[in-house]
Amino acid sequence: MKPYAELSKEELQELKTALEAQFEEEKAKGLSLDMSRGKPSADQLDLSMGMMDVLGSDSQLVCSEGVDCRNYGVLDGIAEAKQLLSDMMEVPKENIVIFGNSSLNIMFDTVARSMTHGVMGSTPWARLDAVKFLCPVPGYDRHFTITEYFGIEMIPVPMTTEGPDMDMVEDLVQADPAIKGIWCVPKYSNPQGITYSDETVRRFARLKPAAEDFRIYWDNAYGIHHLYEDKQDTLLEILEECKQAGNPDLVYKFSSTSKISFPGSGIAAVASSDGNLADIRRQMQCQTIGHDKLNQLRHARFFKDIHGMTAHMKKHADILRPKFDAVLETLEKELGGLGIGSWIAPRGGYFISFDSLDGCAKAIVSKAKEAGLIMTGAGATFPYGKDPCDKNIRIAPSYPTAGELKAAAQVFVLSVKLASVEKLLAEKA
Ligand code: PMP
Repeated sequence: MKPYAELSKEELQELKTALEAQFEEEKAKGLSLDMSRGKPSADQLDLSMGMMDVLGSDSQLVCSEGVDCRNYGVLDGIAEAKQLLSDMMEVPKENIVIFGNSSLNIMFDTVARSMTHGVMGSTPWARLDAVKFLCPVPGYDRHFTITEYFGIEMIPVPMTTEGPDMDMVEDLVQADPAIKGIWCVPKYSNPQGITYSDETVRRFARLKPAAEDFRIYWDNAYGIHHLYEDKQDTLLEILEECKQAGNPDLVYKFSSTSKISFPGSGIAAVASSDGNLADIRRQMQCQTIGHDKLNQLRHARFFKDIHGMTAHMKKHADILRPKFDAVLETLEKELGGLGIGSWIAPRGGYFISFDSLDGCAKAIVSKAKEAGLIMTGAGATFPYGKDPCDKNIRIAPSYPTAGELKAAAQVFVLSVKLASVEKLLAEKA
């Protein structure tokens, strides 16, 4: 098949008729498929069921500091959980604070505290006329929802294959003291699966923001979520880079075990400099007597150490890899060479990011829905839900079964073809 752009109006018309017939066949199947959210599948959750047994009614529930985990005590995480998460996040355990079940919750709290109390003694953001955040795009919709909720103006910054466009980031943060933060998913990014290059990380660490309270929100949600044993990305450790660059307070690093153990029932943590952690602990002291230590203990006893966790992640990868491969194979086979879409084959994380022809993403998602396939809403990967080119779609292959995924990928590529033909025909009208 020739690239669609080279087809004549008559050829396109003919193709449209054939695709419409195929589409009606798909619709008649009455499918009910979902590739919208990056949830682990049930068999992935089964991998962590042993965690239900490590704390029995006859177990010793005292942590290494000698505190009874059934009771109050220990504000910022038991030692064994700190050890596990600091190894996972590649930071010293002195620089980590364990929270509850959600890293997104820590990010929300961090923005909220900056609004009401400021950052390390600076003016609370709520008292300022303008507060802005840089948002690498495409990005994670729930990050953008947090900044939108607080009325923070979001400025999109395009992603490159090495991370955000750093020329633009440097220029903007140096010029505008109203820019207080940037959202980053530095490894196996959501949705593109891109890992920031060493040069990008070093440029982040050396930033010279006009605002003293500018912070990098480094959401390393997919730090150990590799898909392949022989092809793995590596990411420079940002806290250490910032320290070496003389910018120790520049970054908050977030992570959780949501997609390692149980989403919604994992443990989350933030790592940062002593100065930033002092702010965090001051708030935490008023907010809670302490988070769920039994869950922390359960995680520490189940995984034992980082090696246990790494071995566990290989089991996740064995389940996820064939799903990613199935979607990527279908994209390549059905859309390769047609010039109507592009995508990156990720080496880890939870998503495949698809770019259609400009102006087609909404139409594709709506066609897929007509045929029984739910995709993440078009535009969700941009601040305010507005993709200026209407072209980016996030594909989440983790949740459906392998069989469902084949069917879902077929519906998706058919929707892409149909929407593209309609666009090209409209241009020729
Ligand atoms: N950050 C990113 C980049 C994510 O993709 C997700 C979940 N999909 C989260 C954070 C949510 O993490 P948590 O469950 O720890 O709140």
